[in-house]
Amino acid sequence: DGVVRFEDVRFAYDPARPILRGVSFEVPAGRTIAIVGPSGAGKSTLSRLLFRFYEPQSGRILIDGQDIAGVEQGSLRAAIGMVPQDTVLFNDTIGYNIRYGQWDASDEAVREAARLAQIDRFVSSLPEGYDTPVGERGLKLSGGEKQRVAIARTILKGPPILVLDEATSALDSFTEREIQDALDKVSRGRTTLVIAHRLSTVVNADEIIVLDRGVIVERGDHQSLLDLG
Ligand code: ADP
Ligand code: ADP
Repeated sequence: DGVVRFEDVRFAYDPARPILRGVSFEVPAGRTIAIVGPSGAGKSTLSRLLFRFYEPQSGRILIDGQDIAGVEQGSLRAAIGMVPQDTVLFNDTIGYNIRYGQWDASDEAVREAARLAQIDRFVSSLPEGYDTPVGERGLKLSGGEKQRVAIARTILKGPPILVLDEATSALDSFTEREIQDALDKVSRGRTTLVIAHRLSTVVNADEIIVLDRGVIVERGDHQSLLDLG
């Protein structure tokens, strides 16, 4: 399961300045919906509401038909995996970083998650700048590799719902394609909400929703949105 539904959600950080002005959409179980739109449109705000960092002023957010207003944040975190734009690594091996929070996961499972995220060669390495043993230089991870650590962590956790906040605009196109590949693997079969900055990164989404100043201005598949020009 893991159907996510926004029903006429309105929200403002400051009452004088509405951010979401009646947003409704559904992410069917196992499907991928992408939210695209210019910076400041309210995309990240949607994910903050989904985790109950804030409450909508009106409207409802439902998971499997249940209004999340009555669901504890801890339960939401267990059900929803988040791959953020920026990943801060802990002072330990990449394997530890992947396992973080999933302490009873087997080495086998950690390795498999790393393999799917294409960072298995780093599992035993320490990131650069951390307490590496004397005489060793830590591993310098690129932004894309750090993001893959977050992807591997999410694969290991295996939540039914995923929120992917794409940072690919800052990456070169080769890295972008690699990340895209890893993200496609994690999202397969899970209910996925992708927050994207560019249409080109969400070709495979089942539906693309264009948000502008807190309002849905277009929706459709990749091709139909391209046809709009
Ligand atoms: P997007 O993800 O589409 O770039 P956001 O949801 O991050 O947009 O932000 C939407 C608007 O809300 C922006 O104008 C932003 O400045 C404002 N905003 C975001 N977070 C806060 C906050 N904590 N307090 C006040 N305003 C905020
Ligand atoms: P885990 O539950 O995977 O061990 P943590 O206990 O470290 O992870 O908490 C991170 C979880 O909290 C993420 O999986 C995500 O569900 C949620 N989370 C953390 N940061 C954010 C954020 N900026 N926006 C939305 N959700 C977040």
